[in-house]
Amino acid sequence: MNVRNIKALAPFKGYVVTGIRFEEIGAQINLDFDKRSGPRCPHCQGKLPRNKIGRRAVMDCPMPHGSIVYLVFPTVQGLCQSCNRYVTTCPKEVHPDCHATWRLMRLVSSWAALATNSEVAAMFEISDGTVRRYDKIVLKEDTPPPCLDGLTKLLIDEKSVRKGHCYVTIILNGETGELLHMQEGRKKECVESFFGQLTEGQRAGIKAVGIDRSGAYQAAVEAWLPNAEIVYDRFHLVMNVNQAVDEVRRSQCRRASKEDRQLLKGQRYLILGNQENLDSDGREKLDRLLEANEAISTAYILKEQFRALFSYQRKGWAMRALANWCALALASGLAPFQRLARSFTQHGERVCGFVKHGLTSALIEGFNNLISRMVHKACGFRDLDYLELKLRHHSVMR
Ligand SMILES: [Zn+2]
Repeated sequence: MNVRNIKALAPFKGYVVTGIRFEEIGAQINLDFDKRSGPRCPHCQGKLPRNKIGRRAVMDCPMPHGSIVYLVFPTVQGLCQSCNRYVTTCPKEVHPDCHATWRLMRLVSSWAALATNSEVAAMFEISDGTVRRYDKIVLKEDTPPPCLDGLTKLLIDEKSVRKGHCYVTIILNGETGELLHMQEGRKKECVESFFGQLTEGQRAGIKAVGIDRSGAYQAAVEAWLPNAEIVYDRFHLVMNVNQAVDEVRRSQCRRASKEDRQLLKGQRYLILGNQENLDSDGREKLDRLLEANEAISTAYILKEQFRALFSYQRKGWAMRALANWCALALASGLAPFQRLARSFTQHGERVCGFVKHGLTSALIEGFNNLISRMVHKACGFRDLDYLELKLRHHSVMR
């Protein structure tokens, strides 16, 4: 076989390619020490005597047609005079503990961002566990530590990552969407451990924190962040209102005659979806439904009005609109909406804080979708460190 410029196969510092052999199972690239430099200490690059020579084989990126490639290189063990410790030589491009080259591990890791780990494992003919190990090492190496300086806004949320109620608390930078902290559980301790990592100055710089109304984080935010206003984030507020609509729908369903129940059944998404996304058929169905049932019709109008709140550019206007909404909700006679109205009246500032602080729900929604996709792809995450690494990498590298 005529391979030109075989040096290009492994341009590793201090080594030269001496040949490539193709065998049934794959290919083997042979390296030797570059004669000009000889064996070098991997820590300090000091010269080592060329004795006790062994050989080591590690896995390298596969050839384009998919066959396995091994990289075989000589190793020298000895006492490095400058470090004064026993060392074993190894090209910098080979991971010291993984029997693999960094370029293979990077390739596996970039595929793991696109496909499930089992698919990647099959592709590279390695085990699922090895894919996870390579991916973790590469992500750890390539993802910078969280940037905690200059934080002004935070978003805090909880998310289920596995069936059987395994929750994690996540904290995002409210401006960039960077994942700053993830911890198992959804108690206030989960955010306190993050606040504890911040300096006093960093904590004082935080002006707004977007959270869910019902979460356990409010007290911790109040205790730790002296200058932060709590803002109820839009994503959760809209969810609260949708839940109220659904509660009304279900109670109407229970009370309805057999005939009406037929009309109400299975219409959840019709009622909860955004009107502008409906086609003409859907709109007709919705109109018929709203005409037939007064309570659902009222709930629907309240939901749409609440959504309109988020179009206000000034907090004063939003506050007035919220007050109107609360009055309507209280007068509606629908218990779930009355409950919401009482809470919103009490915390109007927090409901309308999004205008002042410009906190949108896009970051939280985007992040929730990302977690759902990853968890779904991996059929639930057992290794939470791994999930955190993947999420952090994604949130930083977008
Ligand atoms: Zn050394």
